[in-house]
Amino acid sequence: MLRGSCLCRRVRYEIDGTLSGALNCHCSMCRKAHGAAFRSRARVRAGDFRWVQGEDLVTWYESSPGNHRGFCRVCGSPLLSRFDFDASAHGLPLGALDDDPGVKPGLHVFVADKAPWFDIADDLPQLAALPPRKAH
Ligand SMILES: [Zn+2]
Ligand SMILES: [Zn+2]
Repeated sequence: MLRGSCLCRRVRYEIDGTLSGALNCHCSMCRKAHGAAFRSRARVRAGDFRWVQGEDLVTWYESSPGNHRGFCRVCGSPLLSRFDFDASAHGLPLGALDDDPGVKPGLHVFVADKAPWFDIADDLPQLAALPPRKAH
């Protein structure tokens, strides 16, 4: 089981099962949402994820149509993304995990939108964007 929590620890979640599709997203929305050069995220099956504390504090922001970013309204930590076009899976920001998920981001996406003040210094594949309808 994997556990995660927000900065103020009022919101906690648990995941049974494995994560997949870990990547670093450099799009401008992820950069702003995370206040960082990129967002590291993975895919989690909806049935594997559950809130265990503070779900009422999770506020959802629809950053693009059908893409709902959930964050703790007390401390602002990004916690989960829900997708109207695929209810079977969620997007999980890796930064809120308290346990080792056993996966690491395998590529960079939306590097065409990359911050000018950050240089990618690894050898992972870099995609300019993503195919349509792929959630990030
Ligand atoms: Zn919080
Ligand atoms: Zn993004």
